[in-house]
Amino acid sequence: MALFELVDFDYHEQVVYCSDEQTGLKAIIAVHNTNLGPAAGGCRFWDYANEDEALKDVLRLSKGMTYKNAMAGLHLGGGKAVIIGNPKSLKSEELFKAFGRAVNNLGGRYYTAEDVNITTADMAIVNQETEFVSGLEGKSGNPGPFTALGTFLGIKAAVKFKLGKDDLNGIRVAVQGLGSVGYSLCEKLVAAGAELVVTDINPEALERAHQELNAKVVGLDEIYSQDVDVYAPCALGATINDETLSQLKAVIIAGCANNQLAEARHDQAVKDKGILYAPDYVINAGGIINVALEIGDEPYCADKATALVEDIYNTLMDVFTKAAEQGLPTGQVADQMARDIIANGHK
Ligand code: NAD
Repeated sequence: MALFELVDFDYHEQVVYCSDEQTGLKAIIAVHNTNLGPAAGGCRFWDYANEDEALKDVLRLSKGMTYKNAMAGLHLGGGKAVIIGNPKSLKSEELFKAFGRAVNNLGGRYYTAEDVNITTADMAIVNQETEFVSGLEGKSGNPGPFTALGTFLGIKAAVKFKLGKDDLNGIRVAVQGLGSVGYSLCEKLVAAGAELVVTDINPEALERAHQELNAKVVGLDEIYSQDVDVYAPCALGATINDETLSQLKAVIIAGCANNQLAEARHDQAVKDKGILYAPDYVINAGGIINVALEIGDEPYCADKATALVEDIYNTLMDVFTKAAEQGLPTGQVADQMARDIIANGHK
């Protein structure tokens, strides 16, 4: 695959392939842009069908981090890492140490953290080999609850903008994915009076949501056609596509998953359907905002992180308002706002 020719390449500053024979580590670290500061973004452990899929994923995620960090007002650039393989069989202490050495070799141009299939315990091992790690236990910790808070407030902003409602009482939300972020989001939604429809590949998570949160459980493919106000993608990306859009009854798409639009054109397609889309990297910035407070000279402060995450509500309102004024899709408007911030940044 010709890297420079890929649509997702988008002038990445650096793409590094890392491997370790003894542990079976195969990882790709992508540094998209460091205009605003060192690149920061989590590490995903995933059993990709092939290397090309992993490369595409890391490039898309890394570029997304540049935009996300800019829109969150952070002095950080965008980067991401993926470890290729089945986490169940491949995870080992030595593998994470090898990954830590690979991160360290970048000399602070990239800060890593947790993403799908990576825990704070895994990151503690990475930290034995490099200081360029955030999201550690005892400091900012698991970013999931902060991402959930930002997503919850993003849903509130979207409901206010689209439906004119100040609260979530009686609002029906279809949540796809009950992981670290998704479940915490569900708890907040129910506490605010919302009703849940949920799906996941994990039957235990579904049972728990049913027992604890009175959630209606549906099959994996049934989640799109539910009669709800909000569709909240909280599993993996690209779930907004031609097939799912034709099924959606929700008037709002607002969830924590990264890269929700299968293709850029789906931003316009969503608007044409009269759906309000909360751009993924704006609504799901809570985790990176929390983690970012660990990078730099000041000590980590959870209250400061919470206040910054709460600002996601205002940022989204700004995006929604500008999009409505300009008659443009929300994703396009957020991209332009992010590009303006990045262009004005200083190395
Ligand atoms: P997680 O691994 O804890 O949870 C993912 C959940 O999705 C799991 O319960 C899994 O069983 C479920 N799932 C997997 N495939 C599914 C499918 N096809 N249909 C339905 N459910 C499925 O991950 P997480 O940390 O909660 O992150 C969820 C999403 O949010 C990811 O896209 C991640 O990149 C994004 N995100 C996470 C954070 C964070 O702070 N953790 C921050 C920003 C964005």
